[in-house]
Amino acid sequence: MAAMKRIYLDNAATTPMDPEVLKAMLPFLRDAFGNPSSIHSFGQETRAFVEEARDKISTLIGARSEEIVFTGGGTEADNFAIKGAAFANEGKGDHIITTSIEHHAVMESCKFLESRGFRITYLPVGIDGLVDPQDVKKAITDETILISVMHANNEVGTIEPLAEIGKIAREEGIYFHTDAVQTVGHIPVNVDELGIDLLAMSAHKLCGPKGVGALYIRKGTKLIPFIHGGEQERRRRAGTENVPAIVGFGKAAEIAQREMDSVAKHLIRLRGKLLQGMMERIEHIHLNGHPTQRLPNNVNVSIEFVEGESMLLNLDLEGIAASTGSACSSSSLEPSYVLLAMGFPQELAHGSLRFSMGRETTEEDIDRVLEVLPRIIAKLRAMSPMLKSIR
Ligand code: PLP
Repeated sequence: MAAMKRIYLDNAATTPMDPEVLKAMLPFLRDAFGNPSSIHSFGQETRAFVEEARDKISTLIGARSEEIVFTGGGTEADNFAIKGAAFANEGKGDHIITTSIEHHAVMESCKFLESRGFRITYLPVGIDGLVDPQDVKKAITDETILISVMHANNEVGTIEPLAEIGKIAREEGIYFHTDAVQTVGHIPVNVDELGIDLLAMSAHKLCGPKGVGALYIRKGTKLIPFIHGGEQERRRRAGTENVPAIVGFGKAAEIAQREMDSVAKHLIRLRGKLLQGMMERIEHIHLNGHPTQRLPNNVNVSIEFVEGESMLLNLDLEGIAASTGSACSSSSLEPSYVLLAMGFPQELAHGSLRFSMGRETTEEDIDRVLEVLPRIIAKLRAMSPMLKSIR
């Protein structure tokens, strides 16, 4: 029997590394080992490549090279931005505005600050996952020092109206942070057009290596360093740079810039095919998130009378990898807090399924999902006490 082709539709959790990225990284895992802070030629050699990567990443988001600080991933960049801005601006106020659908990296940073005396407003979102910029405006007080709204939600894919929120933040003179981990390299991101002061990104979501990310810090933004030690990263993030990972991140940014338009077109076509195919073949199914203002690669649906986890396990047996929401929530059986915040009842929040496609996803992959999933759902529904009770 031929081996079953595995289909990876969980690119929002992480992406496979691009072979070009690996190739760019390899010399720095072997011969080019110098410490970028060293004065000698070994150090200068790696320094040049770190700075080249910084240039590529800054170009991708319309920033200046010196405004990029490398971090150990998206989570660290979010922590750095939020705690760094809060503690540096304590004298001005103690109030932060964020949303109820942020990634844990933002949410838990805010909760930590709450335990240290800061006040946090968690804005509600609409049924489509959108934050209303007017709600942001209304929540601002004289004490507000930071607004943090994610660019696109990792579970439902909704893209938030950042330009409008950025304008409000600018008018009020309040720092604006965004978690752009799901958008950088996937859709156009320009820090000036969006009015952003702080932006978190992560390499492994755009076919780069794991454990490396960056924080964009607009020139002049008051922020305390997150990690104290040596003078690396202009004293904003101490520690010897992870050179191979940074070089890989730079290469991933270069590729993303080059291929973004064509990949997005491909993904939007597949997204339409998958969604339409599921709607035609499966009853009691709903698209979650905004119908059009959403990530090109994200299809998140709620399927009534079946549990997300059961669908995932059955899909996995067929070689198809998807998710019920975020990777972090997959080990718990709690319903998605994002869907609950969007106003979904518990049952629908439990029956959600997220497909997040990637550059390598093909039409055939989608055909296979459309062949397999209706069968799985029919099987699960036949066993479902939830469905029997309404029959
Ligand atoms: N923010 C969002 C929206 C994410 O999707 C993720 C990834 O899980 C993160 C932050 C965390 O990034 P990292 O895995 O690089 O720490």
